[in-house]
Amino acid sequence: MKQPASETTSPVPGGPWWRALLEARWRDRLQAVTELSVEFHDVAAAAPDAGAGRATPALQRIMQRVASARRALADTDEALARLAAGRYGRCESCAAPIPARTLRADPEARYCARCAEPAVVRRDLSLVTA
Ligand SMILES: [Zn+2]
Repeated sequence: MKQPASETTSPVPGGPWWRALLEARWRDRLQAVTELSVEFHDVAAAAPDAGAGRATPALQRIMQRVASARRALADTDEALARLAAGRYGRCESCAAPIPARTLRADPEARYCARCAEPAVVRRDLSLVTA
């Protein structure tokens, strides 16, 4: 992925550096969706029972990858919408600022650490205690 220039000069969430980062991610993810969709149609056309109404395991795997690529694209889409609305880098639940280091690790992050999904927190805790 191409990184925007001047990484250290403009890390303020919502600034142009983040817009460039999110737009680059959006393009990458759109391309991933496109490539997977093409792959899906190639595999579907080559399937021996094409048109029989049942997806082969290979097709089902690609369908899952297409679905997750679409979700990833939608996540970036929504992050760009928050940026345009001036809400980027703020927790959607409590409006607290999300630390820049969190956004660097996950530019589509929508919650602060305190409001982050409990399921994720529990999974992290079980990893620690297991
Ligand atoms: Zn919060």
